[in-house]
Amino acid sequence: MNQSSYDDSDKRFDLRWYEKLLEISPVGIFFTDAEGHCLHVNQRWCEIAGMNHDQALGRGWVQAIAKADYDRVAHEWYEAARNNQPFHSEYRFCTPDGQITWVVGDARAIHQEDGSIAGYIGTITDIHRAKLDRIALKQHTERIRTIIEQMPVLLFAFDEQGCLSAWNAEAERVTGYSAQDMIGNPQAMEWLCPDPGYRRQMHDNYKRLGDDYLNWEWHLTAKDGTTRIVAFSNIAGRHPIDGWANWGVGVDVTSFRRTEQALGERVKELTCLYKLSMLSSQHNLNLEDFLGEAVELLPPSWQYPEITCARIVYQDKIFATDDFTSTPWKLSSQLHVRGLQVGLIEVYYREEKPELAEGPFLMEERLLIDEIALQISRTINHVLGRQDLALLDELSARAGELEKFSHSVSHDLRTPLTAIGGYAQILEKQIQKNNLAEAKNSAEKIQKITVRMEHRLSELLKLAKIGKIIEPSEKIDLGALISDVLEMFENRLQAEDISVRVDSDFPWVIGDRIRLMEVFENLLENAIKYIGKSPKTIAIGYTLKGIEKVFYVEDNGIGIAPEHSEDIFQIFWRLDKSSPGDGTGLAITKRIIEAHGGRIWVESEGPGQGARFCFTLGHVLEA
Ligand code: ADP
Repeated sequence: MNQSSYDDSDKRFDLRWYEKLLEISPVGIFFTDAEGHCLHVNQRWCEIAGMNHDQALGRGWVQAIAKADYDRVAHEWYEAARNNQPFHSEYRFCTPDGQITWVVGDARAIHQEDGSIAGYIGTITDIHRAKLDRIALKQHTERIRTIIEQMPVLLFAFDEQGCLSAWNAEAERVTGYSAQDMIGNPQAMEWLCPDPGYRRQMHDNYKRLGDDYLNWEWHLTAKDGTTRIVAFSNIAGRHPIDGWANWGVGVDVTSFRRTEQALGERVKELTCLYKLSMLSSQHNLNLEDFLGEAVELLPPSWQYPEITCARIVYQDKIFATDDFTSTPWKLSSQLHVRGLQVGLIEVYYREEKPELAEGPFLMEERLLIDEIALQISRTINHVLGRQDLALLDELSARAGELEKFSHSVSHDLRTPLTAIGGYAQILEKQIQKNNLAEAKNSAEKIQKITVRMEHRLSELLKLAKIGKIIEPSEKIDLGALISDVLEMFENRLQAEDISVRVDSDFPWVIGDRIRLMEVFENLLENAIKYIGKSPKTIAIGYTLKGIEKVFYVEDNGIGIAPEHSEDIFQIFWRLDKSSPGDGTGLAITKRIIEAHGGRIWVESEGPGQGARFCFTLGHVLEA
């Protein structure tokens, strides 16, 4: 150091001040000769290095550099010296007891007047705290970046110009577009939403929602052309980030939505099949009603119910939904019963829809229509089977009746025929004897028996005619019908001093008016005929048994023994042969009731206890 130059410039300045400065400097200071041998270090240097001044002298100071950094530092030092550049580097000092301190070292060469290097002067600054903070920050930043890159959430950000400035690995995975494709690309949104209408709609929504929305679902077109559904949330309004005018996150909900949609479709299909099976299992199912209701179940089970219509063709009948139109977009399945095609089911879309497994229809819809066709076919089969059985039952009942009938006919007609035969022989003899007065008597008897036979035959014919076929059914006010019948009996009832109680509010029924009048006439006729002693009363009414209405005609007459409660409905069966009548009334009544889908029976406590004739009808209307 050239002491005199300072003395010359400023008398007040003393070089010892420099020495003092060296000692109080917050940075370590060192001096070396041209070979790097230490000539001097200050107090701060000693503190950082953990060695004293003397230990640092010569090559001693080198020990202070952490071994891990030594080679690098030496290399940088020699490079700087060789290039005549100042030395600057960050490295670690390590005290003999192992304490590490990060420092930034600076050094410069001091040149002689001839230009040769006299030595080096340098500083070491303790940057340990800042360096650790920087390392921590870097690690922290790395961690965040890794999380952002690896999290299964899309991250996007836009800059002030509306260009994407962030696009993470999940965004790349979901859309197929790389960050390189998207960041800074002004067409990025067009690539993701190629349909201008949809883009405009989303843009308008964005204007409405602003920077604060949650789970807004977008349909993005991926690079491979497939559609992905992403639920975006933008919280930039609440959590602004410097440099990102707008940012948010998104979750790929494509498979979730697809599963949800598929599940919804399955539920619709199951509901349809369930309702169909409920319809099929209805008691007393009428095929036409069933097909009419079944066709209405079809449209709601298809993917686009609002544009779906359907029809079921069964033999020569068509059951269609109200809005039925045939179009080219059709799915159909055949109905088979007992190995024969008996019809088909058709489902139509009234508008064109994107191509799927079979035209615009899903593979599941093909399976569904086939399953429905199968169920309907089974139901038709079942109903036809039941009708066959009913027919069979009826046929065998008819056969039984026919047998009884022919038995009755032969039995009941044989007696008068034998009588006629007897009288005819007598008549012949009387004529031969010319006994005309007696002959006239016999002829009259023959005539009388013949008239009775004629009557019987006509009754038998009447009974035979009352079968399944009755007059066209009409709506009948049963109360009015009973009044009409009572009117015919008015005189007799009065003459015989019989009081009649009639229920009010009889329901309406569907049936054959003349035949039903006959039922009440027959029952009333019997009630009057077999009525007992005074007070004589007859009641006509109806009661509810469960949900069934039971009509009755009741008298307080001679009653019926339980063992005859079935016999009385047989043709020509009579308990008391001496009483007027021919035993056909109840048989005819029973036939009429059965032809109306009902049943008839008698309730009586026994002889002398009166009788109640009860019957039901197949078609009773609600009051
Ligand atoms: P009919 O009255 O001409 O003999 P029906 O077929 O009407 O023929 O009746 C058959 C039989 O049933 C009667 O002969 C009678 O024995 C019995 N019967 C019918 N109605 C009653 C009644 N209200 N009370 C008692 N017995 C009856």
